[in-house]
Amino acid sequence: MYLREPCYDIDELKLENLHIHTFHSACGKPEMQMESIIREAERAGLKKIALTDHFNDPDYPAIEYNKEMKAEIDALGTDIEVLYGMELSAYGVGKFLDRIEINEALDYRLYSCNHYNMPYWEHPEEKTPRAYVQHQIDIVTSLAKSGRADCIAHPFIGRFVACFEDRQLVTNEMTDNEIGDILTILKEHNVAYELNAGAILGYPEFSKRIWHYGKEVGVVFHMGMDAHTLNRIDTAETAENFKKLLY
Ligand SMILES: [Zn+2]
Ligand SMILES: [Zn+2]
Repeated sequence: MYLREPCYDIDELKLENLHIHTFHSACGKPEMQMESIIREAERAGLKKIALTDHFNDPDYPAIEYNKEMKAEIDALGTDIEVLYGMELSAYGVGKFLDRIEINEALDYRLYSCNHYNMPYWEHPEEKTPRAYVQHQIDIVTSLAKSGRADCIAHPFIGRFVACFEDRQLVTNEMTDNEIGDILTILKEHNVAYELNAGAILGYPEFSKRIWHYGKEVGVVFHMGMDAHTLNRIDTAETAENFKKLLY
């Protein structure tokens, strides 16, 4: 498990990229091999990275693959601290695809709570933005209280809800009170909120509210590029865009 100290300096946060998919993920490009990832992270001046492949199958050999990747990286030798994690799936209220033995063996437990595009994901009964917001809040709350998560991946973004054409619809439905309450729950249960590159830049108005209330509540933010290609390992350019948007 990993949780950094609360920090609101993007020049500090950008030294960590805690959301990287390898070639093991179906969406990760074949170029996402250990040596290339490490060399690119070194070039970019990162201090810490997390490897977070998708966990979409209860029988996915997460531990075995992570061991193999660790052996390869140990043999390379690097000063970068590598967390061998997973992007796990909290696919419904109180529902987790990973067995507890897998969860406990991971260095970093990044959970997505809104991959409604996956066939096994639970949906609210009513297909309204309000129902989807409440459903996501309920999932994140149950996850935070479970003690299973270190961080929430791309929280509350509407892009995965296919029944609405406007992807901002679900996200913008969240009230300031709801944002304050869920950030407080994350803070109380030592769960970080991911500053996910695509989520922050794709949902600018929502992201400004998250940053504002997050600082007020003292929530921990982690930076994650959601890298599927080598050119998304470097955080520098995204960090500059974060500063323009959030400061
Ligand atoms: Zn994801
Ligand atoms: Zn991801």
